[in-house]
Amino acid sequence: MKIRGIKNVDFEKKDVLLRVDYNVPIENGKILDNRRIVETLPTLNHLLERNAKVILLSHLGRPKGYDKNFSLLPVKDELQRLIKREIFFVDDFKKEGVREKIRSLPYPALIMFENVRFNKEEKEGESSYVEKLSSFGQIYVNDAFAVSHRKEVTTFHLPEKIKDRYAGFLLFKEIENLSKLCENPQKPYVFIVGGAKVSTKLPVIENLLNYASTIIIGGALSFTFLKSQRFNVGNSIVEDDMIDECKKIFKKANEKLVNILLPLDFVVAKDKNGQGIRNERRDNFSPDDIGFDIGSLSIEIFKSAIKGSKTIVWNGPMGLFEIPHFQNGTLQIGKTIAEETRNDAFTVAGGGDSLLAIDKLGLEDSFSFISTGGGAMLEFLSGIELPGIKILKEEG
Ligand code: ADP
Ligand code: MG
Repeated sequence: MKIRGIKNVDFEKKDVLLRVDYNVPIENGKILDNRRIVETLPTLNHLLERNAKVILLSHLGRPKGYDKNFSLLPVKDELQRLIKREIFFVDDFKKEGVREKIRSLPYPALIMFENVRFNKEEKEGESSYVEKLSSFGQIYVNDAFAVSHRKEVTTFHLPEKIKDRYAGFLLFKEIENLSKLCENPQKPYVFIVGGAKVSTKLPVIENLLNYASTIIIGGALSFTFLKSQRFNVGNSIVEDDMIDECKKIFKKANEKLVNILLPLDFVVAKDKNGQGIRNERRDNFSPDDIGFDIGSLSIEIFKSAIKGSKTIVWNGPMGLFEIPHFQNGTLQIGKTIAEETRNDAFTVAGGGDSLLAIDKLGLEDSFSFISTGGGAMLEFLSGIELPGIKILKEEG
């Protein structure tokens, strides 16, 4: 069964529970990046234009019970500014009188419930909580791709209960674009992976071995792969318990005739401050050298592997891009993908830190699609069916 979208649904005077992911970075009450809020506007406007009462459900951070530092109030203010409409904020939907107050609002209306994770039942799926929450609406819509890999009340148990359930425009867009990466993708197909933790990337690498022609591995990740090939990587970040897994990836790549490219050289230094910084071949590391970025030769090799591709996926920075003297690899690879986007390749980027890098380096408009999901995108590309998406597919 296919996922149902919201385009042709009758929302006239309906109360809609809309799960969004407004888990945005906030510092001193200021929102640093409002992309996740902006991306839900099409769904919100659609529902309001069709005269619905919309109840927004979101989490923010990982609070253990009530914690005012994780309040959604700054998000409410930002959304109010963007949508130019008053939002009725509910700090605790279990309080007396809330239902009556919501009922008294005329259609259409926009309501926001406080951080769903202030309720410990959100994680546990406790049934009286599901019952209570579900009584606030007749229709459920999920527009929160970035949290769809979590099996929680507002992503899973709530739509399990409300059979009238749909995917919002943002969720639909994510599924549509990411599916193209693992359903008959156009070749040549390059997957560029970087970042820090091998264990979080292995399942994606393993699954995309089934589709990609070339996998480029950069970032701190590459040192565990290189060590598994007996290179001496000095003091660079290595996950020793992942070495056997890396060997398995090479074996599988051989069987599937997928080309795995590792950096040939690095920008190395003795520490993050750049003490003793130089470009070094991968077979010439001193014991106290740390690789912080891919080197100039690697950039050239990776560029030529990317050029001419029809499908390109990028997750994870090529180096410690937060520090200016280690950001060149990430910048050059990003620019090369941007060029291929202009040459009609289908290009996708995603990942929490990758998005930060993309913003910092001014590459926001360089891709066919930028996913709003970090962990959710990785799980999707690992071939796992996300619980929040799966439940929308089931017959009501
Ligand atoms: P994403 O969130 O996009 O999936 P990750 O969380 O896997 O990315 O990793 C991003 C982090 O990896 C960044 O903070 C970056 O500085 C770090 N990183 C990448 N390469 C290196 C390196 N060679 N040495 C140290 N840190 C690195
Ligand atoms: Mg990350």
